[in-house]
Amino acid sequence: MFEPPVQRLIDEFARLPGIGQKSAQRLAFHLLNAENADAQRLADAIVDMKATVHLCSRCFNVTAEDECSICLDLRRDMTVVCVVERAQEFRGRYHVLGGAISPIAGIGPETLRMKELVARVETEGIAEIIAATNPTVEGDTTALYLARLLKPLGVTVSRLASGLPVGGDIDYADEITLGRALAGRKEL
Ligand SMILES: [Zn+2]
Repeated sequence: MFEPPVQRLIDEFARLPGIGQKSAQRLAFHLLNAENADAQRLADAIVDMKATVHLCSRCFNVTAEDECSICLDLRRDMTVVCVVERAQEFRGRYHVLGGAISPIAGIGPETLRMKELVARVETEGIAEIIAATNPTVEGDTTALYLARLLKPLGVTVSRLASGLPVGGDIDYADEITLGRALAGRKEL
């Protein structure tokens, strides 16, 4: 419907989350009228991010180095690992599973980074695993699976206290709510 190079950019924008056809057209026409240097900076930022950023080799957080700044931070408590579906802030270290167990969506434990977590528990002197999965059916299932999997290895497995809205996403909880949930965590 538009010139092929314009339509191509509209199609690419429309594939992004939260961008509909109308927004995609608005963005494409904005760039059509933008300075070449501005359009080039956007293109460079995308290419540069994809070329330099990858997953931390230890916890699978996003990083530009081999290990992320959290794993390399010696002031953090090495003996506590917070297991999350996606990344966030806390005083210990992290392990990013990459999602939660969901039989309906065909996501079993073998498609998440469980093996890698077991390897860390066996080699890193971890004393406690905090299952900070979301308060959903999938998050509950994943937390119970973690308890069954890891308690035989001699670590404490705890779950965040409720206080987060049911069905709410931990990624969007404010720090105070998350701090309270961490302080009131219960052993599984
Ligand atoms: Zn890391």
